[in-house]
Amino acid sequence: MKVTITENCMGDRNCNDLCPEVFEFDEDTLRSTVRFDEIPEKYHDIVRRAADECGADAIVIEE
Ligand code: SF4
Repeated sequence: MKVTITENCMGDRNCNDLCPEVFEFDEDTLRSTVRFDEIPEKYHDIVRRAADECGADAIVIEE
């Protein structure tokens, strides 16, 4: 699984609260970033949930 955050991110930090092991908040751009090129298996479910919950539809998952 690969994950990217689009420029639609509105910086509400929901994904960071949900899974700080994967999502990091960039204080310069005020957008989230992803810590991994390839998301470890153990985070797949929570990453899918973060994508579902993202109000900006900014979390793009490639399975
Ligand atoms: S949940 Fe979506 S809008 Fe909110 S910080 Fe994460 S990527 Fe950005």
